[in-house]
Amino acid sequence: MTKVIITAAVCGSNPTKAMNPAVPYTPAEIADEVVACSEAGAAIAHVHVRDPETGAPSHRLDLFAEVIERVRARCPILLNLTTSGLNLRGDDITDERLVPITLRPELASLDIGSVNFRARSFINPPDFGETAAQRMRDHGVKPEIEVFDVGHIEQAKHLIDRGFFDDPPYFQLCMGIKWGIPATPENLLLMHRSLPAGVPWSALGVGRTQLPMITMSLLLGGHVRVGFEDNLYLRKGVLAESNAQFVEMAVHLAHTLHREVATPDDARAILKLG
Ligand code: MG
Repeated sequence: MTKVIITAAVCGSNPTKAMNPAVPYTPAEIADEVVACSEAGAAIAHVHVRDPETGAPSHRLDLFAEVIERVRARCPILLNLTTSGLNLRGDDITDERLVPITLRPELASLDIGSVNFRARSFINPPDFGETAAQRMRDHGVKPEIEVFDVGHIEQAKHLIDRGFFDDPPYFQLCMGIKWGIPATPENLLLMHRSLPAGVPWSALGVGRTQLPMITMSLLLGGHVRVGFEDNLYLRKGVLAESNAQFVEMAVHLAHTLHREVATPDDARAILKLG
């Protein structure tokens, strides 16, 4: 089976230090978490940035740039910057959302369809996917197509058919986000079956579903994502002290299930990064 790419999603936009004191806010804290995950075996880091003082979700370009600079100086991990812009408000926030790709990370998340996301609406209009895919291609950035339900996969396939993505399109199956597709084994099989044949894909599970979802993904030949963006607990009642603990858990699980762990260079080859 293919080597498994472990992505570490180190902070997201939702978890706070009140929920878990190890959640990083400043670019230095975020970079430290990313480097530790790299050393533990992650090939990709998925990065959001936060207001350094308050921890509020941010989309400031200088904060993304500082994280990149600090990480690049210390380790070879591939960087995947968010373009979700969940904190941004306005009628047309497309340009603002896509600004992180001007820093030319190896990858960026691309949210294809709309979904209610806990108490708010996460709006990705039909033309957002097209604009984002085009602009990522222009900047040499590989899209990681985030899908929260089966219909999003159908929408992505429509764009693939029309030539918006370079081969191979890469999917992140986001399982168990309220109110996307629930993270059940049956639903992960359905999502997996709905993908175009043979494409690389990864799965994440929110909260207590992280472990079962990544285990299933390992068995099905998929890649995995772990980290504070999705889950703060190692097990019931036990907060993780770092993102690297989740990466260590994923490495251990992969080895137990006889999957080799991909290095950043392996991930470049699997995803055909330029
Ligand atoms: Mg994200």
